[in-house]
Amino acid sequence: MPEKTRANVQSKEYFIWEAPGCGKCMHKGTKGRMVIFEAMKMTQELKKIVIEGFTEEKIVNEATRQGMVTMKQDGVIKVLEGLVSLEEVLQSTI
Ligand SMILES: [Zn+2]
Repeated sequence: MPEKTRANVQSKEYFIWEAPGCGKCMHKGTKGRMVIFEAMKMTQELKKIVIEGFTEEKIVNEATRQGMVTMKQDGVIKVLEGLVSLEEVLQSTI
């Protein structure tokens, strides 16, 4: 996780909430939708990796080195902020 993101996460107190839900929400405990995502900026270093022959691992390693927050990390941050359940993040990010 990028240092800037890590520092922001570590400066807060969190709780992991359970979302038992009710009949209205089909026992999901949530309403609406929450996006978890990752976005990678195409840089010269990444272009070089792509041109020279890439693997998913090489691209992910370089992108995270450059500060990309992965989808799973974004999901965990949103779990800690009480915006989405841990179960949904784990189901969505394998
Ligand atoms: Zn409900």
